[in-house]
Amino acid sequence: MISADYDLVIVGAGPAGLTAGIYAARARMKVLCLEKTAPGGQILVSDHVENYPGFPEGISGAELVSHMQRQAERLGLPIESGDVLYADFAGPVKSLALSDRTISARSVIVATGASPRRLSVPGEAQFYGKGVSFCATCDGPFFRGQDVAAVGGGDTAVQESLFLARFARKVYLIHRRDALRAAAILQERAQAEPKIEMVWDSVVTAVKGLDAVESLAVKNVKTGAERLLPVSGCFVWVGVLPNTEFLSGVVKLDQGGFIITGPRMETSVPGVFAAGDCRDTPLRQVATAVGDAAIAAMSAEQYVASLY
Ligand code: FAD
Repeated sequence: MISADYDLVIVGAGPAGLTAGIYAARARMKVLCLEKTAPGGQILVSDHVENYPGFPEGISGAELVSHMQRQAERLGLPIESGDVLYADFAGPVKSLALSDRTISARSVIVATGASPRRLSVPGEAQFYGKGVSFCATCDGPFFRGQDVAAVGGGDTAVQESLFLARFARKVYLIHRRDALRAAAILQERAQAEPKIEMVWDSVVTAVKGLDAVESLAVKNVKTGAERLLPVSGCFVWVGVLPNTEFLSGVVKLDQGGFIITGPRMETSVPGVFAAGDCRDTPLRQVATAVGDAAIAAMSAEQYVASLY
């Protein structure tokens, strides 16, 4: 039997990593979960999750993941602070390099999730934290009585725009198409919210201001018409980018950088599995992340058992 620090190292303590940890701890694997910031992942910033089963009235993202974390820790999952910078999966022992140490494992589950995609327009980076935000729960209350813009057309953009409407005087929801992608129930709510005004077929071309956001340059992609939208906040929800930089050239990624997995969440490297938002999947939600993670943990357990 090859020697290694752990049977399984889980990278990331969002919903996927914590769920994988619950299964691995119950399987009595020697497991460690590494998290580079704080446990919880992206759902921490969601004010209200109503599509995760088991909570009839909905639940805040922070409360939902704190339940997951408590459950995982009670079952014996150690969660340590650590940012995995490099991975060496070439040999039978997988090696993960943090800034201060290297950890070896017989198997690895990558559950590193994703980060918000930027608009990549002039002014966006300059005004980040000065009107540009990716988090309504964190920053929405600062815009009480003011006009703000939200960019995007999916579930997150619409759900978060509804949250912003609690504080803002007006929310312009800017979408590059003429119809939203969000779930029908969210679209109905957005239509019924008088503070939300749709800006269809439009993209933001620049964020403008002196010390903070004062307006957005917006272009209609059908007519080419441009206008300045006077707002003090610009909330961006235009998709996600996978947190997989450290895996480039190590496991197979798709063109967008998402990890290519099989039905058992196996990657191109034996003993390395992936779960949640970091993998190539048609739906990035808590329910899918935890489902992936349960399968990945079972696969890792079977893989490690096959080594003995
Ligand atoms: P993540 O939640 O992204 O967690 C990954 C974790 O890995 C993070 O904690 C990160 O810090 C850590 N990590 C990353 N790289 C490293 C590294 N190199 N080393 C160590 N740790 C690392 N989903 C729903 O089902 N319902 C909703 O209502 C909903 N609302 C949302 C609202 C918002 C505003 C957002 C942003 C997302 C929402 N989602 C919702 C989506 C949901 O949050 C994600 O699908 C889910 O969090 C994915 O879980 P994950 O564990 O795969 O990844």
